[in-house]
Amino acid sequence: MSFTLHGIPVSRGIAIGRAYLIAPAALDVDHYLIEPAQIEGEVERFRAAQQHVHRELDTLRADLAADAPSEMGAFINVHSMILNDAMLVQETIDLIRTRRYNVEWALTEQLERLSRHFDDIEDEYLRERKADIEQVVERVLKALAGASATLGGGVHGACDEMIVVAHDIAPADMMQFKTQTFQGFVTDLGGRTSHTAIVARSLGIPAAVGVQHASALIRQDDLIIVDGDHGIVIVDPAPIVLEEYSYRQSEKELEQRKLQRLKFSPTQTVCGTRIELCANIELPEDARAAVNSGATGVGLFRTEFLFMNHKHRLPEEEEQFAAYRRAVELMNGLPVTIRTIDVGADKPLDSMGGGDGYETAANPALGLRAIRWSLSEPQMFLTQLRAILRASAFGTVKILIPMLAHAQEIDQTLDLLREAKRQLDDAGIAYDPSVQVGAMIEIPAAAIALPLFLKRLDFLSIGTNDLIQYTLAIDRADNAVAHLYDPLHPAVLHLIAFTLREAKRAGVPVSVCGEMAGDPALTRLLLGMGLTEFSMHPSQLLVVKQEVLRSHLKTLEKPVADVLAAFEPEEVQAALKRVALA
Ligand code: PEP
Ligand code: MG
Repeated sequence: MSFTLHGIPVSRGIAIGRAYLIAPAALDVDHYLIEPAQIEGEVERFRAAQQHVHRELDTLRADLAADAPSEMGAFINVHSMILNDAMLVQETIDLIRTRRYNVEWALTEQLERLSRHFDDIEDEYLRERKADIEQVVERVLKALAGASATLGGGVHGACDEMIVVAHDIAPADMMQFKTQTFQGFVTDLGGRTSHTAIVARSLGIPAAVGVQHASALIRQDDLIIVDGDHGIVIVDPAPIVLEEYSYRQSEKELEQRKLQRLKFSPTQTVCGTRIELCANIELPEDARAAVNSGATGVGLFRTEFLFMNHKHRLPEEEEQFAAYRRAVELMNGLPVTIRTIDVGADKPLDSMGGGDGYETAANPALGLRAIRWSLSEPQMFLTQLRAILRASAFGTVKILIPMLAHAQEIDQTLDLLREAKRQLDDAGIAYDPSVQVGAMIEIPAAAIALPLFLKRLDFLSIGTNDLIQYTLAIDRADNAVAHLYDPLHPAVLHLIAFTLREAKRAGVPVSVCGEMAGDPALTRLLLGMGLTEFSMHPSQLLVVKQEVLRSHLKTLEKPVADVLAAFEPEEVQAALKRVALA
């Protein structure tokens, strides 16, 4: 039966493919297809893990104290029965044999199927047995992990007609998809600028987030269409709908091919003002896409993604240095703006636990995030600063600091940078002594107290994603309030316009590196506010360039002034229409 789901569009384009469901539990296990010759070995691995759990349960039963409540014994017996049940065992083996799933994938897939049956059961007692099955499966997965090193969350061997459907995907897990070829993404949770959405966009594939209940309603292998322009997901589409979307998909591909022609033309407005279009990257290898898109530099290297997936430690100085140097070398002389680690909020670090209170923070987005965390870990911060400085000997590097709000935070950061330079001098290691240091303007307090920043720093970069989050008090990752996340709110526009105007007046370069910079619908508005440097995902660069090439700054002046003078939403919209037509 065909049905349609609505969510938030986060990455443009149309994807048509089969649903590849990732259950929350399954996210922690490897997914890969095995060779036919490996099937019996995989079944054997499953049997061995099953026997292991049987022995564990026997030991538990034998160790029960004589006065233990009788339910304890009954509970262990139920688990033993589940462990032998054909619905779990035989069906899992069938999935290994027929679909060639690795055992962890087969097991979690079967768990998902059984869970769906249980959700439909009216009897509460029986419905609760679902938790028992989950516990048994977890035991088997643990046994498998002990027997081999396959636990740890990879997705291999997926094929390119698949569309990932999940309840939620952490940014760190999203990074795994960089090496996979998926057609699209659909998640139940998330907002337009959640980091998961940002990574989806950086992959350049259509995605919709905040599609409520998608992972419960869509089944494995369902044929689905993801309309990433409108946030629509069509499940099991009628042939005529499928035909229409296939047509639209080929039209879009054609548009993309046409845009490629703009790649090497200079970026300037009709009136001849030169505009810099830079790229946002998450990993050093993304610099290739940046160069291929015609970017004139990296405006934002989100280094925290290098730190994620390091389960028990942060990368050493050498490892970081190699990564930064790689990005710098790939950019071949073009500037690379390296942002110091911005962890916390929706980008927690595995190694962040412990005594810093991070895990228990009630509002992580308002807590020990970004520079606040770096200043609380000065040795870690010095290590990163040294690694970045060392990379500056191999090209043009700028250092960007996230989430600054206070004068003393800027001063402490600059002190630590001086200390890092002194340490390198002592060791006789080369770096660029005049490396520029800039601040993200992403907290309203920073925009309003701009003179503090203009006096102390070499450049600024407006992080509109957080600026919107903190100005409007909207958690950017929370789809329950995603409808209130509004880049066109007058308060947001005023903060951006004020920052651009004051920085220009002080002669301090300023760019925008939040998602607003990559939205072609906002290009003219930003140009009209005086922005001359944009940084965005490489996938957005050419479509923004096209807008720049069609814009005339003089004719934008009046309608943009009207947008800024408007407060009522209808007035803002009407003025924006005039901006689009100017
Ligand atoms: C921003 O906040 O706009 C930004 C670019 O940084 P991030 O999205 O990584 O928080
Ligand atoms: Mg930010």
